[in-house]
This record gives sequence, C-alpha cells and structure tokens, in this order.
Amino acid sequence: MSKITCNFDSGRIGIIDESDWSNIRLEILPDIEGSDEFMGFNFAATGARGKECNFTLEHAGNTRWAGGWKNYRIAASYDRRDWFRIPTTFDGSALKWSHTPEQDRVSYAYHAPYCELERFALVERCAASPVARVESLARTLEGRSVNLVTVGEPGTGKKAIWVLARQHPGESQSEFTAEGLLDRLIDPADPLSRSLLKKAVFYVVPNMNPDGSFRGYHRYNAGGIDLNRSWSDTTPEKSPETWYVRERMRQTGVDFCYDIHGDENNHYPWPVRPVGVPSWSRKQADLLGRFEEALKIASPNYQPDLPKPNYDHTPGTDPLAMAISWTAETFGCPSFIIEIPFLDDVFDPDERFGWTPRRSRLFGAASLEALAAVMDAL
Ligand SMILES: [Zn+2]
Repeated sequence: MSKITCNFDSGRIGIIDESDWSNIRLEILPDIEGSDEFMGFNFAATGARGKECNFTLEHAGNTRWAGGWKNYRIAASYDRRDWFRIPTTFDGSALKWSHTPEQDRVSYAYHAPYCELERFALVERCAASPVARVESLARTLEGRSVNLVTVGEPGTGKKAIWVLARQHPGESQSEFTAEGLLDRLIDPADPLSRSLLKKAVFYVVPNMNPDGSFRGYHRYNAGGIDLNRSWSDTTPEKSPETWYVRERMRQTGVDFCYDIHGDENNHYPWPVRPVGVPSWSRKQADLLGRFEEALKIASPNYQPDLPKPNYDHTPGTDPLAMAISWTAETFGCPSFIIEIPFLDDVFDPDERFGWTPRRSRLFGAASLEALAAVMDAL
C-alpha cells in the first residue's frame, strides 16, 4: 500500500523503501542527474495517524549546501497552510526525524511551498487593483506564464524599479517575499506605497521559474538551465524566462533592481552584491550602501555585515551571467540579491514555526521603506 506521494504541484522526493512506518527510507532527487545542486523536497504521508514514524533522507550529505542541515528543522503541515517544525538529526550523510502524526494525512517539506494556486491568487489580486497591470511576459518550455506585475503609471521622470523572485524554484520564501512587497504596493491605504508610486513604476516578477516551481526543482528550469547563470547568453528557446524579462528591461530601463533568493546556510536575510561588473561605479556602490543601511532599520534581522561565504564568481565563468551583474552593467544601476533564510531567525527564533512565510512577507513589505530612503537619489 502506498504511504508516500509527491505527485502534485511542487512535490518531489525519491522513495527507497516505504514498507514500514518505523523506517521510511527516502532520498532527495537532483533536478538533473549527477548534479549536486539539490536540497529541496516536498511530499505527503497518508495513513500514519498515531503511529511513531521514523523518516530518513539518505545521502542528504551529498547536497551542495549540506552545511544547512545543521540545526535544521523540517517543515510539516496537516493543512498545507500552517507549517510547524520538527527537529532533525544529521550525521554527515543521512537526515532523520521522528514524528507521530495526529492526523491521517501529513505533509513534509524543506520549506513551506508556494504553489500555483497561490501564485494565481496573487496575480489576480494585483490584476484587480486600480494601480496595477498584469501581463504574461513569456511562455515557459512547459507552457506556463511568466507574469509581470507593473504597479504605477509610467510618467516623465519616474524611476523604474525591478524586483525579481524565485529564479531558483526551490527558494519558495522568495515568492512569499515578493507577495509581501506587492500586497503593500497595491494597498490603497498605505501612505508609503502611495508616495513611492508618485515617483516610480515597479516591475515585479514574483515567480521567474514557474516550471521548476511546479516540478519541485531546487535550482533549474524545465530545460536544465540555472536561470541566474543565463543572463548573458539566454535564448528564447533555452531560457525564455530570462530572455523576455531582459527584453522588457531594455524597454523600461532599470534604475534599481533586486533579485530575491533563498539561502540554505545562514540564519538571517543577507545580501549578495554584484562582482566582476566592469563599469561598477562609486555611485552604484554608494546608493546600494544607503539602501542597505535603511533596510537594516526597516527590518533589523537584515544582516549585511556578518561573515558569509565569498561569492566571487567561479573562475572561467562569465560574471555577467547573474541578473544583478547583468543589470548593473547594462543599466548602470544599483542591483543586488537579497537572500532570505531557510533556517530559523538566529536573533528571534521561533521554536514552533521557525522561519515562516509571514516573516518573508514582512521582509518584502519592509524593503519598500528602504527604497523610499534612496528613491530621490536614484
Ligand atoms: Zn537562489
């Protein structure tokens, strides 16, 4: 009898042995055979109410971000809305947890998923707003829409602010962050948003990679392309997601760009700044610095100054292949990545829920306050 399933929107897991609830053996599947760039999983277990279940994710130590399994707590839910946390152990190879479900059906995931129905609801909420327009910029390899939400009326002297999220589909928190930002922008009662929209037009792509998101991929699009390494050599055939966004950026110009991602190893939001951009100027660096100072005040869990991995680009690869570097070079604008954590907030941990979608939404909304601090200087 089948106990484990992942055959649904954003589901993904490999089943090794599901015969015994006391020893369910699973594995995380790479997006592409042989790649180490995997980490995410999302599956449901049915029929274990009241049974003590032991789950093992074998070979979890082979993932590229295996450091992120230290102190990691898995997300679990009975209704796919309220995601609580369960402690895990990691021995360098296998990730394990035990759980006695209170109900017959329980879901387990690396992080709370953000599914297609939520995506449609967000886009339709924006489409209903008098200040926003929604369009389908690109058709993906599997026929999905890459939606662009434009908030504000174009006008003389207005700045073009671009916000991208979820180029890496496993990083669902980035889409929750974009949702928080969009909901604040279209809120007619929010004075900060009203004032921003007098000065700027926002171009927001809340999900750059709907195929990878649906497939439960962590890193790639349906054709095996890492979109955030495709910006300097994208084609409409291989990566329509980046190709058509790039084309639209050329029409609107870009005065500021941030690209929202998720980070497996750190316990707080932090930045990746562009490297290897030939024309990177003092002005771009200063504006980015001012934005980051304001962001620390708007969302004090933002930690640009703590030690973090060196993100110099890999030797032999094109530094402009990332969205932030390509936009910084092409438009001379400040551009950077915000990394939202999978792990709990180290400054304000939440034993029951860990890092939640709500924390991501609040961060996205707060980033508008930081933008307001630099808008006139852009
Ligand atoms: Zn990413």
